Amino acid sequence: MHVIENATLPDSLGRFGPYGGRYVPEILVAPLEQIEQVYFEARQDPAFQAELEELNRQYAGRPTPLYHCKRLSEHLGGAQIYLKREDLLHTGAHKINHCLGQALLVKRMGKKRIIAETGAGQHGVASATVAALFGFECTVYMGEEDMRRQELNVFRMRLLGARVEAVKTGSRTLKDAVTQAMREWTANFETTHYLLGSALGPHPFPVMVRDFQSVIGTEARAQFGEREGGLPDVLFACVGGGSNSLGLFHPFLDAESVRMVGVEAGGRGDALGEHAARFSGEGGAPGVLHGTRSYVLQDEAGQIALTHSVSAGLDYASVGPEHAYLRDQGRVEYTACQDADALAAVRTLARYEGIIPALESAHAVAEAIRRAPSAPGQRFLVNLSGRGDKDIGIFRENMPDLD
Ligand SMILES: *Cc1c(COP(=O)(O)O)cnc(C)c1O
Repeated sequence: MHVIENATLPDSLGRFGPYGGRYVPEILVAPLEQIEQVYFEARQDPAFQAELEELNRQYAGRPTPLYHCKRLSEHLGGAQIYLKREDLLHTGAHKINHCLGQALLVKRMGKKRIIAETGAGQHGVASATVAALFGFECTVYMGEEDMRRQELNVFRMRLLGARVEAVKTGSRTLKDAVTQAMREWTANFETTHYLLGSALGPHPFPVMVRDFQSVIGTEARAQFGEREGGLPDVLFACVGGGSNSLGLFHPFLDAESVRMVGVEAGGRGDALGEHAARFSGEGGAPGVLHGTRSYVLQDEAGQIALTHSVSAGLDYASVGPEHAYLRDQGRVEYTACQDADALAAVRTLARYEGIIPALESAHAVAEAIRRAPSAPGQRFLVNLSGRGDKDIGIFRENMPDLD
């Protein structure tokens, strides 16, 4: 059984060192305290843990396999590459992990409605899915521009019974959808839970989402030990808001020999506006966005910068506060992978293993592929956070030689 961890951080104020916290309008303090109280009670409650485990097994499809990429490893001629197959979960990505956990809390709080934000639509689909499963009403906020780019996911959410509301402010993308969802929650928190989609936002969301996602690393560590013996040498995961990466990394943090690499979206290049690399690109500095203090891409005046990535799930100006802390501690190394390299990794994994990854996950795959030839004898574990079905249209646009 995956027992949700009781780690020492964040502190009682939700801080990871100087990051995290709760930077919200006064009116949201009480509802956040309610979630905090209900969550910390649930975390200690074996009945809650058992119900979540049952859903993970029977509904989401856990445990996910740990897969050894023999052909790819042989082709690269260095490190052995393993994948944690979160792409095989129901709805196609790791997001179902924190949606199921939060849905159980909504039930515990006696609420009947959820709202969520979404960029590419993946978190919206996972939210609409658990809303259908639990009989909640569901509204998803999505930038108008993203709705246009992700028509199929908009339809999928509607098919699942959710209302999708177009956000027409700002750049009409994810950042604006989060802002709108928070505004909406402020008006309706008595009946409504904000089902936040990553390890982001005000306390307790970062710790709660990380805990629900840490089932990934708990499983992977046990599977690796049983099947291969010992521990992997290096972990790789892509970092958007930071939930799938923390989910893999967290249960390994106490294993000093295990190195960890978080891969951000390098987009088209280093200039501000061309990437979403909060740690490794130009313009990332500590700041507050959407209720938490972390690294934020900003201009010299502190205005939130525009971002670009070919993968919508990594295209966000801030990053979960625990990552900022792990970066400052030097425990996790952060790097960026550009659009073109992620697309190349999609092709490589498809050709050598018959697995088409999500564009987000392909960033982590690309970094493992880049390092493998010079790491013979090492074992790399990559979190395959999602499958590529949702990205087929983007692959087609970018791979004209196959069309
Ligand atoms: C949303 C998404 C991500 C990015 O979110 P994190 O919170 O950083 O994990 C990564 N991979 C996939 C497949 C996604 O859908």
